[in-house]
Amino acid sequence: MRLAEERRSVVEHAPSLASLTPGRTGNLSRRSGDAFAVTPTGVPYDAFGAEDVPVVGVDGERRGGGMEPSSEVPMHAAIYRRADVGAIVHTHSPWTTTLATAGEELPPIHYMIVAVGRRVPVAGYAPYGTDELAAKVVAAMDEADSEAAILQNHGLVVTGPDLETAVENAVHVESLARMYLSARAAGFEPTELSDDQLAAVEEQFESYGQ
Ligand code: 13P
Ligand code: ZN
Repeated sequence: MRLAEERRSVVEHAPSLASLTPGRTGNLSRRSGDAFAVTPTGVPYDAFGAEDVPVVGVDGERRGGGMEPSSEVPMHAAIYRRADVGAIVHTHSPWTTTLATAGEELPPIHYMIVAVGRRVPVAGYAPYGTDELAAKVVAAMDEADSEAAILQNHGLVVTGPDLETAVENAVHVESLARMYLSARAAGFEPTELSDDQLAAVEEQFESYGQ
């Protein structure tokens, strides 16, 4: 089976979308070289096996697998062509998507933003699944030098070296969006960390953990 390990990883991590995004929305993928394994379109996260997982080239062309791939293949493929990342998670997580309805980016109000960059930019609205949306997402990530983007009136996309990290970073962004909107709902504008403060965190993160 082509991309066997990546397809198993998609099956393993798809259920973690359940707590991040409503219903069957959202999708995720894992890359190996010039192809990626991606969640099937419109299927509950726990209702498919590795043999069902579609494989698609970074050129966007179908390469195999049992089920029809996610409608967001153009976005996943464009992000993989943009940068050497190993995994992508897309959600309609509620706090980030609330921010997306205002067309507002997520500023650096907490040091954990550094997991994905110094801010999370907004990609302007385009219909889901289109090349137009894919181009806007890639342009926003490039402009902000960010590993994540908010999709206006739609949701969030986050990348990572593997699915475990990408899912965890999506949880971080959602949590930061919640803090940001809660602060504003409480009637104040949170202070932002400076570039120097963020640079210091980036340095600390290089040796964080066991
Ligand atoms: P798929 O089920 O086709 O992956 O679509 C879900 C989605 O969130 C589209 O933006
Ligand atoms: Zn979506």
